[in-house]
Amino acid sequence: MSENHLVKSIVIAGGGTAGWMAAAKLSQHFSKTDISITVVESSVIGTVGVGEATIPTLRRFYQSLGMDDMDVIRKTSATIKLGIEFQDWHKPNTSFIHPFGVFGHDANGIRFHHYWLKLQQLGDTTELEKYSLGIAMARANKFTFPAEQPSSPLSIFDWALHFDAALFAKLMREHSLQKGVVHIDAKISAVNLNSDNGFIESLTLDGERKIAADLFIDCTGFNGLLISDTLKTPYVDWSKWLLCDRAMAVQSELVGEPAIRTVSKAHSAGWQWRIPLQHRQGNGHVYASQFIDDDKAEETLLQNIDGKTLHSPRKFKFTAGRRAQAWNKNCIAIGLSSGFLEPLESTSIALIETGIEKICGSFPAPYFSQVAIDHFNQVTATEWERIRDFIILHYKASQRDDSEFWRYCSAMSVPESLQQKIDAYRERGDLLHYPWEIFHPDSWLAIYNGFEFYPKQYNENVDRLNVDYLKKSLEQMRTSISNAVVDLPTHQEFINQHCKMSMQ
Ligand code: FAD
Repeated sequence: MSENHLVKSIVIAGGGTAGWMAAAKLSQHFSKTDISITVVESSVIGTVGVGEATIPTLRRFYQSLGMDDMDVIRKTSATIKLGIEFQDWHKPNTSFIHPFGVFGHDANGIRFHHYWLKLQQLGDTTELEKYSLGIAMARANKFTFPAEQPSSPLSIFDWALHFDAALFAKLMREHSLQKGVVHIDAKISAVNLNSDNGFIESLTLDGERKIAADLFIDCTGFNGLLISDTLKTPYVDWSKWLLCDRAMAVQSELVGEPAIRTVSKAHSAGWQWRIPLQHRQGNGHVYASQFIDDDKAEETLLQNIDGKTLHSPRKFKFTAGRRAQAWNKNCIAIGLSSGFLEPLESTSIALIETGIEKICGSFPAPYFSQVAIDHFNQVTATEWERIRDFIILHYKASQRDDSEFWRYCSAMSVPESLQQKIDAYRERGDLLHYPWEIFHPDSWLAIYNGFEFYPKQYNENVDRLNVDYLKKSLEQMRTSISNAVVDLPTHQEFINQHCKMSMQ
């Protein structure tokens, strides 16, 4: 039987988005115990300062802390996000949207897209996106709260936020401090190990005092001060599939009304994000340095921004991949210290959430053993691989052949787990859903369809339905979606009415 390690004190190293989200949730989880939680961060080092597009799980995270959507939006200068628009990804001058929500209605145990495919094979040319309320609202830049009655056409979408990362970390910090988390502003100058078992014993702060703990959460960002520098945990490198290894980010003035979707525009050796907030816009070019140099990448970024830039671009370097063990000895890596997948589908913060949830799940009682560590690591590895596959699909499926970068991507072989999914969809239109997937089948469908990846055949049980009835049902779905959007307020009107920013 593996040894149990008692936990009476937790030190969270790092106070970026990851550190403060961990502090907020763990202080709630351990509120009925006498476990102390301390966050050590260095205001001199600062945070990565990017990470502003999210997926809907983020809303469940702060709601679980008792926070309200409108309040969070006001305090973080946020805008609504209904999905991501991929411009020029499929081919130059194309656009499709990956919405948070479903396409059409499944019926008789058969997914909707099989019905749609049947009509396509009969010559109908209506695009799949006409059956997505999320896309209709995103294209019209309109919004309202989802309806609670499942029968309403306004019930079939979900939403997330674009927020100011610094303001969100501040919100998490204030919440944590109210819950009794101790905050120390100091530089971690050394990490001290127990010579018997190699566990982390304490951190030396500013070269002077020490802080000891039973469990350490490494949220020191790309530094990975504890998990990497000290414990030497290996890194699993995925850069042969995900070639982008640099980003250049800059904020700009907002021009016009904020878009209700993140825009991702493909370039010759990567892609550019556009993330609108209420008071400014975030922009960034993610690129592969073996195909484009930094100067050209910066030029491309700046050429594709409408408003005046507010500072000079900041550069980031990374390698796609994950820490081989997110939990090593008495140290758990959360956030950038645990690995990095480019922000194409806004998944880093979502992985912070799932990491924190798993920490909570690992502590029904205040101790841990190797069994808990192994389970945590196995699930974490799987979650990361699922997202990795989803992101690789975007590159593999593109039909761009106008640069060396894109030609490499379409020719590369992909992980077997992804190839199986692609084959199942190609052959029979099956949307395989594996355990620990953050993205549900409709998200995969949105990407396959956006890249004009079509199955060879639809589910033959669809043929049992009368064709005229099928045509009429689908027409009604389209009409109900387009009618539902007509009278909605614009995104800006919605913000003005419900959640205009209140920056102190
Ligand atoms: P950081 O913000 O870097 O925080 C590290 C903390 O550790 C800081 O408080 C720092 O002071 C502290 N620290 C470090 N060393 C020491 C030391 N020696 N002593 C004391 N303290 C120390 N994610 C998304 O979900 N959506 C996005 O759109 C998105 N876009 C991104 C774009 C780019 C270019 C990059 C690089 C990342 C993006 N991410 C995105 C990821 C997201 O930014 C991070 O997941 C998130 O900000 C969490 O960062 P962190 O807290 O792990 O690290």
